[in-house]
Amino acid sequence: MPFAFLPLLTAMTLSSAQPSTHGLEQGVSRALATTRASRISDVRYALALKVPAARQEPVTGTETITFTLADTSAPVVLDFAPDQAGRLLNVRSGAAELQVEQVNGHLVLPVAATRKGVNEIELTFQAGDTPLNRSEDFLYTIFVPARAHEAFPCFDQPDLKARWTLSLEVPEGWQTLANGAETNRAASGGRTTVSFAQTQPISTYLFAFATGKFFVETAERGGRTFRMFHRETDAAKVAKNKDAIFDLHAAALQWLERYTGIPYPFGKFDFFLVPSFQFGGMEHPGAIFYNASGLMLEPSATQNELLGRASVIAHETTHMWFGDLVTMRWFEDVWMKEVFANYMAAKIVNPSFPNINHELRFLLSYYPSAYEVDRTAGSNAIRQPLSNLSEAGTLYGAIIYQKAPIVMRQLETLVGSEGFQDGLREYLRRYSFGNASWTDLITLLDSRTPEDLAAWSHAWVDEADRPIVTTDLQIANGRIQHLAFVQRDPIVRRGLTWTERMQVAVGHDGHITLLPVELRGPRVEVPSAAGMPAPDFILPNGGGIAYGEFHLDAHSREWLLHHVPDISDELTRGAAWVTLWDAMLDDEARPDDVVSLALQALPRERDEQNVQRILGYATQAYWKFLTPLSRERVAAPLEQAFRAGLDSAASPSQKGAWFNALRDVSATKLTLAWLTNVWSQKQQVPGLVLSETDYIRLAEDLAVREPSEAEQILDAQALRIRNPDRKAQFAFVRPAISPDAATRDRWFAALSTPANRRREPWVLEGLRYLHHPLRARSSEQYIEPSLEMLQEIQRTGDIFFPKRWMDVTLGGHQSAAAAETVRQFLARAPSTYPDRLRRIILSSADDLFRAAKIAR
Ligand SMILES: [Zn+2]
Repeated sequence: MPFAFLPLLTAMTLSSAQPSTHGLEQGVSRALATTRASRISDVRYALALKVPAARQEPVTGTETITFTLADTSAPVVLDFAPDQAGRLLNVRSGAAELQVEQVNGHLVLPVAATRKGVNEIELTFQAGDTPLNRSEDFLYTIFVPARAHEAFPCFDQPDLKARWTLSLEVPEGWQTLANGAETNRAASGGRTTVSFAQTQPISTYLFAFATGKFFVETAERGGRTFRMFHRETDAAKVAKNKDAIFDLHAAALQWLERYTGIPYPFGKFDFFLVPSFQFGGMEHPGAIFYNASGLMLEPSATQNELLGRASVIAHETTHMWFGDLVTMRWFEDVWMKEVFANYMAAKIVNPSFPNINHELRFLLSYYPSAYEVDRTAGSNAIRQPLSNLSEAGTLYGAIIYQKAPIVMRQLETLVGSEGFQDGLREYLRRYSFGNASWTDLITLLDSRTPEDLAAWSHAWVDEADRPIVTTDLQIANGRIQHLAFVQRDPIVRRGLTWTERMQVAVGHDGHITLLPVELRGPRVEVPSAAGMPAPDFILPNGGGIAYGEFHLDAHSREWLLHHVPDISDELTRGAAWVTLWDAMLDDEARPDDVVSLALQALPRERDEQNVQRILGYATQAYWKFLTPLSRERVAAPLEQAFRAGLDSAASPSQKGAWFNALRDVSATKLTLAWLTNVWSQKQQVPGLVLSETDYIRLAEDLAVREPSEAEQILDAQALRIRNPDRKAQFAFVRPAISPDAATRDRWFAALSTPANRRREPWVLEGLRYLHHPLRARSSEQYIEPSLEMLQEIQRTGDIFFPKRWMDVTLGGHQSAAAAETVRQFLARAPSTYPDRLRRIILSSADDLFRAAKIAR
């Protein structure tokens, strides 16, 4: 159980008759953190943990916390809020046992037991299990954003950085990794004790270790040793991937050392590939954790997956400087570490992929995802106030990961790339091994530009949403007489205007002119356009830079809906697709027209990134926005187009993208029969090698579509899986795919127990099938209970889980009844319902709301 379910007050030892609550609320409040940071410094933890072989037995530990205290005017408060596996056993200071009060997940040390200056407290405890992610033969920690204190006592806030010394006693034969380098290893009685060197000062959310039955690969690159821990049993797959993984790390490190002017700050460099990891990666200094499937790629990996791997490696490596060396003071600025990680990753990855149009990559990887939240009623600002770290998980999402890099690119343009780099270097030097806020950085950059960065930052960073921009175009005598752009705030009473650079594409007769325009104030004239021949189209973000809700003039929209493939420039084509998708969602274009355009464009599109984007839009339009009747009509031509693309694709990565799309939309007897033959290995896909994961996915997709053969397919697939982690995942997900409604009911009902939701990627995969559009009618009943569970999901789950939980719950639905269920829930929710969760629901439900009312 998480801390929220603990009784309001549990005093371990009632030393006085009237225990005080000391005004302590559950979780780490800003007030508590601010007071502590002003009184406590130079923190050190020496932690010794014993990990039993049996998962059911508790992890036990002893801990010495050393810190310097500025005054003894009030008690020192530690955080400790374990689930039922954990409890505090004993607290001592020197020879004296201390009577501590346990209040709302905190330990209050008696004032008399502390002194001004250096203090040393010893604690013994059973660790809480939740953030230890325990499986049968391995475990790994995830302490972000403030979950270290769910395992053991600590000052769980980012600005009380500490030096950590760790020793782990584990079953013999288990491997271990942690932030520090291994210094000693001793075996006795079937147990191994591993000691690790003291770390540099790091925040509690970055402290990490993992132990279990792992394979270890070692490599030397540029004079540095890298170690990769993993559980992949397919030796050929490991052999095929490992060199690229080491190379990408070495390249990222080299780039960052050069850009920042600061050598890698954390000594040794290990990483662990976690099966079914809940994130893409987590940036623990010296011990990065990754989702194994993002790094150990299949032979069928698409270009997006190859780029995604390079990006996540560059992202986590960037965090060693941005986030780990210099850390946000408080989690409201968590977006800063994420924006730099993504922004630098884009720069780092470019040279490794010389054949990619990186402007297009930037556009396609950031704009559509950012718009997915920013166009909705649930949108949020990049920087959001935060009063308690227990809410920090709800800050994460597309706005900080995808919108913020777009905003950062504007900032670099405003300041100039040299001033920008220079400012960042100073920021990293000045705050090394410490903490800083957005204000600290913007102050450093402001001195390097005449632009008023504070005003710019207000609209882009402190406020939500995007400008609504319309084109004002007048044509006379076959020429442009007048061109202007008008912006308005979606929230009228706020009256915000955004400042940004745009590169407006003016297309005429197969030729594109890019006009630089600075959007500033409510209306901007473009005098340079006057006299140009009447255009085929005007696309405000045609140069791939401008961010907003762009409403095309009617002629341009009509032209683009039929002629995008005629545009010669791939970046402008990509931007046109992004804009037309918005137009469809705003009811200015029909979903059928978008699918028709995709059918026309796919045979002609030569850029692989655009192919993937169009496949994505076509598949989304097909499932979310076409009526079941339209779907039936378009299924055969769509499958034929995808099959033709698969046959003619030049590389395995392209074939992989086409094959996945074909599997996703497959509906006709012909295609299902062919896919069944591929799955049963009677037939091969020329040029494409399918992996165990591909076959599992194929079996699951076939089972949803062929209820009468589902059990037989799933039985056969279960026998074919060799990797133990994938076997366990398949067994977990399988009931959610069952053709038997009662089995699916039971699977869903079991999710009400937190322990059954621990493996979040498994839960999400099951929910995706449970709510598959083909099963939408029967799964509508799960929407309401899933909404009811969201608050608990947020308390018990990891940071991305609440949003993903809602996304998969609503993603397969398009009916008015489903939309109404969500609306009713929101209308019924009390005014005290957390605003951030309300926003999550609104943004996840946006496509559903639009689909339910769109003219189809
Ligand atoms: Zn990150």
